[in-house]
Amino acid sequence: MDVRVGDVIQTKKSHPCGANRFDVLRVGMDFKIRCQGCGHEIMLPRAKIERNIKKIMRDGEQ
Ligand SMILES: [Zn+2]
Repeated sequence: MDVRVGDVIQTKKSHPCGANRFDVLRVGMDFKIRCQGCGHEIMLPRAKIERNIKKIMRDGEQ
């Protein structure tokens, strides 16, 4: 799955605050994402995030 810095990912499982959209801050072995609902930053292994992605939203692309 092609996730880039600056993308917004929509997740299957929502954050405890209720939001299910996250800004991608860093990619690699571990991803760093920030919840758009509460601003909380989370570090997670790539494999775990990929399983949880419902949709990737990127400016200018479908
Ligand atoms: Zn949150």
